[in-house]
Amino acid sequence: MDPTAVAIHPAVRNPFSPSALLAWALCFLPAVSVASASISPATPPGKLIAQAGQVMSSDKTRFQQLLRQLHREEHALTPEQRQQLAYLDAWEADMSGHGPRAIRLYKSVIEHARNPVLVTKARAGLIYRDLRSRNYLEAYAMNNLLMAELPKVTDATIRRRILNTIIRVLFSENQFRQVLHYVHKLSALGGSIKDRCTADLLGTQARFRLGSTMAATATEYRNTVNTCLQAGMLGHANTIRLDRASMMIDEGKNLQAVRFLQTIAPDIHKAGFRIHIASLHVTTALAYLKQGDFAQARTAAHKAIAINSPGSHNYTLQLAYQVLYQAAEHTGDTRAALRDYIQYVDQENAASDDARAQSLAYQVVKQQVLENQLRYASLSKDHRILQLRQQLDRKKAETSRLYVLLLFIVLAILGIWAYRTKHLQLRFRHLARKDSLTGAMNRSYFLEQAGRILDRLHKSGSPASFLILDLDHFKGINDRFGHLGGDVVLSHVAAACRNELRESDLFGRLGGEEFGILMPGCPADAGADVGKRILNALARTSVQVNDAMDVTVTASIGLACTEDFGHDLHALLIQADAAQYQAKRSGRNRLVTSGVLAPVAAS
Ligand code: GH3
Ligand code: MG
Ligand code: MG
Repeated sequence: MDPTAVAIHPAVRNPFSPSALLAWALCFLPAVSVASASISPATPPGKLIAQAGQVMSSDKTRFQQLLRQLHREEHALTPEQRQQLAYLDAWEADMSGHGPRAIRLYKSVIEHARNPVLVTKARAGLIYRDLRSRNYLEAYAMNNLLMAELPKVTDATIRRRILNTIIRVLFSENQFRQVLHYVHKLSALGGSIKDRCTADLLGTQARFRLGSTMAATATEYRNTVNTCLQAGMLGHANTIRLDRASMMIDEGKNLQAVRFLQTIAPDIHKAGFRIHIASLHVTTALAYLKQGDFAQARTAAHKAIAINSPGSHNYTLQLAYQVLYQAAEHTGDTRAALRDYIQYVDQENAASDDARAQSLAYQVVKQQVLENQLRYASLSKDHRILQLRQQLDRKKAETSRLYVLLLFIVLAILGIWAYRTKHLQLRFRHLARKDSLTGAMNRSYFLEQAGRILDRLHKSGSPASFLILDLDHFKGINDRFGHLGGDVVLSHVAAACRNELRESDLFGRLGGEEFGILMPGCPADAGADVGKRILNALARTSVQVNDAMDVTVTASIGLACTEDFGHDLHALLIQADAAQYQAKRSGRNRLVTSGVLAPVAAS
């Protein structure tokens, strides 16, 4: 028997029957029957599992033998291998009719296995199991899970398996448009010629069930049959051919249908699917009935009934009894008509019970999906609001950071501005205090500072010497070298004076070529020493004027000391000026100390 055959009830538009489902489940398993190699105890568990996978649908005895050996060696299995074994156990339980155990094992694999292929296989197994047990609610709910998972699955093998399962369930739900949608996805996966045959078959069946406007053309049927024959999938080819025969009956081509069914009968028997053989007979019966050949119709219907086990319920039987009672009606055999009609009603009740159960399950699951979608929509709305709120908070934080930054910039600018203003102020004050030509203090600042220092010295009782220095015959220098030349000499003199003074001494330009010096802490003799050092320095050094002439100047110095005149600036000024005048009069280039008034000439 070709386990790759899809055996959806072919001759009629009811895709569902338990035996068809079993065949469906089988069609996604490897069709290889491995030659029975002896199981040596040394065979590694992984290999045993692989062998079991290959024979699970073709050699039940060997499959069970392998399972027993695997269970003996269970302690040596890795966690993943244990899950694979659980899946094989589930399959075995399923095939042996232990439904509850199969369901338990499939669920355990779905929950615990890490391998996505295994999980998908277990899901598919569970769905087929549920469909066979008429647990439509569970099957449809699980199928919705698969449909939701599908976009995340990129592996072609797993995708194909999931798609086949989804399509099978959608057939059961009578959702043929959706079937077509998923068949397109299946076709898009490409794959082997077998995969193409399966996809084409499913598409053709869905179109057949959508009615004559959607149904495939005769050519399309032929092409699909040829693809499946080339792929060696005789079962699939027969499914299509039986659909084609039904279509001919729909079109009123009853005799053509009978002839066609006779042509394909050898192939149907060769493939050996009971469901197909039953279909062959019932479709033939239907064609004869429509043709008005009631004897032939009855014979064919009886053949269809004989193939089914007593007490079964399926759509083939329903049709067979329908043919029988209608044929009996036409021939006036009311007793037979009533008997067959009762059988027909029994079959129809079972079918409609089942159809109602399917439809109810479909509605319930659809409702659940809608509810979930609504919940999801409201959740994502809440999520969006939360996101917006967070965005707003982030914006607020950003804005306040900006404000802080702005404030910082303003403060920095103010700081720089204040610093520059202060700096300028200091610079102006500095400029206002200094004589620009000589760098000495100007007259007013010098006198102000000198007054302050004298006050302090007065308080501490310390002495100070006050000197006034006037250059000798400076008019003559101006005359000889010009005013600019005179300025050079003035700078030179200021530098020479500063050179002899301490940091704490006060040096100022009192006016013209007249300088004042206050030496805190210096009694008269020390002050006189400094004055003399200045005179000597001037005499010793010369300055180059107009880039040519070396000019030497002398000066006359008057000294007044606090020890003699107290710490009053005014008094000291007058005394020092008088002493300076005395120095001029005594011949210049000398120092005169006020109070002593004996001039000290520069040595
Ligand atoms: P004496 O020895 O009696 O002091 O003779 P003197 O020529 O130095 O006479 P006096 O001190 O009265 O003359 C000062 C001269 O200094 C007058 C003025 O032309 C000149 N003078 C004043 N200020 C400046 C200045 O800033 N630059 C220059 N080059 N000359 C100045
Ligand atoms: Mg003068
Ligand atoms: Mg002078």
